[in-house]
Amino acid sequence: MSHRDHVEIGKATNLHYGKRRHGSGGAVAPTYRTQSTYPAIKETRRPTSRPSSSRPPRRGGSAAIAVVALFVVVLFGAGIGGWYFFLRDIKLTVNGQDMTARINTPLANLLADNEYFGVQPGRLLSITGNVIDEQGGVLCTVTYNGENVAEQDFAGTLLKDGDEVAVGNGTDVEEPSHEEKAPLAPGVQKERGGAVQFVSQWGKAGKKTVRRGERSGETVDVEVVEPATDMIVSSINLEPAGGPYIALTFDDGPSKYTPEILRILKEKNAVATFFNLGSQASGNQDGCRAIVDAGCELASHTNAHQNLPTLDRDALRQEITSAADALEQASGVRPQMIRAPYGAFTEVEWARAGDIISTNVLWNIDTLDWERPGAAAITSAVLNGARNGSIVLMHDGGGNREQDIEALPGIIDGLRERGYTLVTVSELMRLDGRVPEEVIEGTVSLPEGTVIPEV
Ligand SMILES: [Zn+2]
Repeated sequence: MSHRDHVEIGKATNLHYGKRRHGSGGAVAPTYRTQSTYPAIKETRRPTSRPSSSRPPRRGGSAAIAVVALFVVVLFGAGIGGWYFFLRDIKLTVNGQDMTARINTPLANLLADNEYFGVQPGRLLSITGNVIDEQGGVLCTVTYNGENVAEQDFAGTLLKDGDEVAVGNGTDVEEPSHEEKAPLAPGVQKERGGAVQFVSQWGKAGKKTVRRGERSGETVDVEVVEPATDMIVSSINLEPAGGPYIALTFDDGPSKYTPEILRILKEKNAVATFFNLGSQASGNQDGCRAIVDAGCELASHTNAHQNLPTLDRDALRQEITSAADALEQASGVRPQMIRAPYGAFTEVEWARAGDIISTNVLWNIDTLDWERPGAAAITSAVLNGARNGSIVLMHDGGGNREQDIEALPGIIDGLRERGYTLVTVSELMRLDGRVPEEVIEGTVSLPEGTVIPEV
């Protein structure tokens, strides 16, 4: 019995000192703590170090009862205090409704246990506003006794008696993002109103700052750091020096009419430019070769006379390269000069295929020969419309071209009477002086660092 007392009292005392010492400062040196602890143990041991038989049993028993009673009272008090501080229920209101909860319940637990009171969570949005996660935003908005509480503070907010909590729908959150540098692609600009179109400036990339979403990878432009250099397509009407000069052109061949047109040109010692279709050249290689042999200029009208702006990038390039292949195979000449069917070649086509052509050649005089208006009407359209540098549109294929053949001798004679010299389109360009030689020669290559516009 006395041994038990000794142990319990000694233990309790020792614990008391240990706690106090610990609580009074962790910085105290271990040697000092040891010195102050030992006397306490010695003091409590001293009375019980005597033989137990030398002490009156009744005195020792009543002291023990008193200590135990005190101990029970302390424990009971601690229990009541513990209940009051840690376990009792409190009353609070949530969205105006009375509720009870255990005191010091974290706000986060109250929300989770009540399924956020049925409110709608916010969404996680990408940097461009696309929904990444329907429930990835702020779970809910909470005011606690009139103050807004941020989501990260839900766990640390402990409920007390009389609290007023309001829970509302969550709010959308944008994904995390950061700024970074990115190349700025050039654009494409095309002048209008000219019959001869060519690239006068190739595009170069600039630099920009973008903001990139870390979940989606999407970017939004922030600012231009260094402007890009746009691709520029010039569009000019030729004004050859020392004229007047003029160029006759024939489209949609070669056909059965081509040899007769070539014969007239040879007879008149004149030249013209022929924009052949690749599909026609494949089936009439002799006609295609005869154009070159006659000293005339062979150019491309693309392969199958499609409206090029309706094609995607690959089909557009295929339409141009397959025609060049066919013309080269038939004649040995691989032209970079094209005339787009219907003249249709926009900024988009230039961006997509400007690197595989040198020039797109339109016309200044449309004879409307395909309407078969009669040889006289075709002739007067040319003679009345002729200016120095004019390019004349006629056809040697695509239909009945007897009126063109009938009109051609008079057109040549009439132009010469007015002082014109008939030349090819390339010669007309060279005489103008503004068209780069590589465009005329059909040897265009991209300067280093060129960036093709994205269209
Ligand atoms: Zn055509």
